[in-house]
Amino acid sequence: MTDAIDYQEIFREIVSGFTDADDRGDVAAYIPELGKIDPRKLGIHLTTVEQIHYSFGDSDEKFSIQSIAKVLSLTLALKILGKDIWTRVGVEPSGSAFNSLVQLEYEKGIPRNPFINAGAIVVCDILVSCLTDPKVELLEFIRETSGIPTIDYCSTVAESEKRMGFRNIALVNFMKDFGNIHNDADLVLDLYFHLCSIEMSCKEIVQAFLFLAADGINPVTKTTVINSQRSKRINSLMQMCGFYDEAGEFAFRVGLPGKSGVGGGIVAVHPGKFCIAVWSPKLNENGNSHKGMKVLEEVTTKTKFSIF
Ligand code: GLU
Repeated sequence: MTDAIDYQEIFREIVSGFTDADDRGDVAAYIPELGKIDPRKLGIHLTTVEQIHYSFGDSDEKFSIQSIAKVLSLTLALKILGKDIWTRVGVEPSGSAFNSLVQLEYEKGIPRNPFINAGAIVVCDILVSCLTDPKVELLEFIRETSGIPTIDYCSTVAESEKRMGFRNIALVNFMKDFGNIHNDADLVLDLYFHLCSIEMSCKEIVQAFLFLAADGINPVTKTTVINSQRSKRINSLMQMCGFYDEAGEFAFRVGLPGKSGVGGGIVAVHPGKFCIAVWSPKLNENGNSHKGMKVLEEVTTKTKFSIF
């Protein structure tokens, strides 16, 4: 049972304590469609494993979850392929940018982990190999996992990303040359861009990720999303690799497994206690939400609920 804590009051305190210095960073304009978002948006939602909800600000507004979705595609690929997935993608922090090509050259086309772009593209390649209609089946899985049938791709964002996706195009071709992409590169990228374009609110993200706080079972839908060992492993990967080359800083400041996206969202999990999502579109130089990190740092400091 989660100790009775008034998270609502904590959110209010944190936000009212923000100063001009906290209002730093830039919206991710390298995907033109993301550059149109109002940078002042701020949403927070926390749900405990007992399903008590706490929310703040724009927590019901949908936004582009971007790389946060990579946790869900990994979950599906793990369900389908099991441990064989680890012959195609590693489980080590990258310590380099989310879209970096450098390590791939040294490591012969095997991405460091499933959350950098290269790794998520390999996971998409696995899904293209294993599913008949990957875009449809991936979406169905996310809808079922979360119990939210309205979750959808945003074709405008997917198109916007495709038009400017030169780095991701380079990554998929580079890995294909090493033999680690088995399908047509365009087909794999189409799934990848759609995955990143998924739109959800903070509240919906929390509902979709709550299984990671409850040993693989979604307490809302009561369905087993994945077994507890794999749930543990996904949390471990988020802890080590969920924040590009800032995973150490996130662990240091927040102390929870989590995953960020360049849409300004961050989801974090306290196994056995709660799941929380924060959305604030201005990103720091590593591509993580500046205020999002600050909110989560203060939540774990004020409640003393980190995993450490
Ligand atoms: N769709 C983004 C890209 O491939 C994902 C980046 C992110 O959220 O980390 O550049």
